[in-house]
Amino acid sequence: MIIPAAQIRWQGDQAEAINYDDIYFRDDALAESERIFITAGQIVAKAQATDTLCIGELGFGMGTNFIAAAAAVLQHSNARLRYVAIEKHPLSPADWQRVKRRAQQHKSLYQALTEPVLPLLAGWHERVFAAGRITLTVFYGDVAEGLEALAQQQHNPVDAWFLDGFTPAKNPQMWTPQIYTALAELSTRNTSIASFTAAGHVRRGLQAAGFAIERLDQAPHKHHSLAGYYAQSGRTRRVMPSQVTVHGRGIGGASVARRLAESGVSVQVLDPAGETGASARINTAVMHARLLGDGSPSAVFRHASFHYTSAYLQGLRGFARTGVLQLQGPNMNAKKLQRICTAYGNNHEHQQHWLQQLSAAQAAQLSGANIQADALFFPTAGVVDLPELCAALLDHPSISQQHSDGSASSTMFDTQGPHVLCSAGGTRGFPGCDHLEISEVYGQLDRYESTAPLSTLPIVGNGYLVPDDTGAVLGASYEYSPWSQDKARAHNLQANQHLIAGAQLSWQHSQRAARATSSDRMPVIGRLQTEAELWLATAFGSMGTTAAPLAAAMVSNQILGWSSGVSCAVEDLTDPNRFARRQARRGIRHR
Ligand SMILES: Cc1cc2nc3c(=O)[nH]c(=O)nc-3n(C[C@H](O)[C@H](O)[C@H](O)COP(=O)(O)OP(=O)(O)OC[C@H]3O[C@@H](n4cnc5c(N)ncnc54)[C@H](O)[C@@H]3O)c2cc1C
Repeated sequence: MIIPAAQIRWQGDQAEAINYDDIYFRDDALAESERIFITAGQIVAKAQATDTLCIGELGFGMGTNFIAAAAAVLQHSNARLRYVAIEKHPLSPADWQRVKRRAQQHKSLYQALTEPVLPLLAGWHERVFAAGRITLTVFYGDVAEGLEALAQQQHNPVDAWFLDGFTPAKNPQMWTPQIYTALAELSTRNTSIASFTAAGHVRRGLQAAGFAIERLDQAPHKHHSLAGYYAQSGRTRRVMPSQVTVHGRGIGGASVARRLAESGVSVQVLDPAGETGASARINTAVMHARLLGDGSPSAVFRHASFHYTSAYLQGLRGFARTGVLQLQGPNMNAKKLQRICTAYGNNHEHQQHWLQQLSAAQAAQLSGANIQADALFFPTAGVVDLPELCAALLDHPSISQQHSDGSASSTMFDTQGPHVLCSAGGTRGFPGCDHLEISEVYGQLDRYESTAPLSTLPIVGNGYLVPDDTGAVLGASYEYSPWSQDKARAHNLQANQHLIAGAQLSWQHSQRAARATSSDRMPVIGRLQTEAELWLATAFGSMGTTAAPLAAAMVSNQILGWSSGVSCAVEDLTDPNRFARRQARRGIRHR
């Protein structure tokens, strides 16, 4: 799962790629990027003529072209930017910090790009900047693999290409006829293309793939470069829906509504529960990575959710980045903990910004709690106040909220535009959804005052403990059929027993709610095959705070025709049609 970091040698402000014996970055890099890519690619004119500009880049490097493009779009247009980049040799966290420190211009964009840095994990990464106007989607891996996935997942064309890999002599696999054909397949008429290299075989290869190309004289600077445009008809852009209706205003619905609104869509949110919706009953949930470490699509979904969400929620009301300790317990024995650490780099310095393995003594020292075994520490994890966060997400001028009567009749789908069901336990009541294997598991949180401090950090393990100024919230029972409040309280005390031993606790109140969970424990995300345009982002089980924001990105990207931001394997894993397929294999047919 981890991908090796680029080997970089810094000579003052100049960075060299050791393996490629080529310059990565020099001190005039932004000016060069503006000349070779922004100006030659006509980025400002293109941004001024569209609502959303899509730029594709081969060779993300130190993000210079991304920063230059984002700054140009933000400063000179009202457009949104979708920037998709592929990089086989990503920067280490330390090199990203160095890039940020030395930035002279566009400091806020560099700050956003590096806080937190993209983790060194192979596959797709997505980030959202500038109040949602800029979306960055990066594939860490081989260029051919990344382009193939993009061609498969993205409906819309790329409007401008930046080719900025290492020089063809040193990196021949990026400059092949197959790559040029893949670029053509993702282009539309007049998609611009710009390349720092002026090599004759690159020019001829791009021409053979359908691009009209000219060699630009970069005098008085040293280089020649190439620029041109796609001269054939190609992909057509999906028409953006003028309105989307989202059913449910928990973190699932609020996240979908926000991403769509940030993407320029008007969103109507319907919920029968109003302010007292299901999530409004839980105001202490832990956003952390429930890692598996086995390389499966499920493991990838979990780490991708965590990284996307910890960046996306940063700065939003209702999320506090506290760091979270994960202890061993029934879901995390010593063997699994070790497997996770090994899979993610065994305490390697490159992973420390998001995952650290601590000895019992280190964990006890960090938290002040009674901890007896090795633990995991997630510095970018935190605590969510769900009602606060949902309100913050829904607070957008393009989102309107309405009370619905909760009756899910087929006529409601007559409303203009796609519908997204984020309705948790209510989902099966919608037309065409009764076969979805979603059920409810109840749970309870209990708040206590404590005579002594219990921990300085939220701790998850057998149960969970979230400290506050004068006590803690203890969670969370998992009840297939609802228990009494007393039974759930006794369970939560027992689950956290080792953390509260010796403290005098006085119970204040309890909160009860249901979690919607699917039969295979994976969320349900994507388009359902029905006559109506019906999408789902729901059934997050016990990990809604971590999974719902990524699910929202996936669904809104797909509705609008962009790549989903996750791999095809993750899309398949969470596909809403999987239940119908499995039922068909068991001989169960439904209308
Ligand atoms: C005790 C407990 C502790 C938990 N702790 C954590 C934790 O620490 N970390 C974590 O990540 N997760 C935790 N969870 C799970 C987390 O709360 C959920 O995953 C998350 O809140 C689900 O959000 P949602 O938006 O999908 O569903 P909900 O919050 O249930 O929202 C669904 C909404 O859909 C509405 N709806 C229903 N029917 C209809 C209809 N017909 N039309 C329109 N709207 C409809 C409902 O009124 C509701 O507002 C916990 C859950 C419980 C119960």
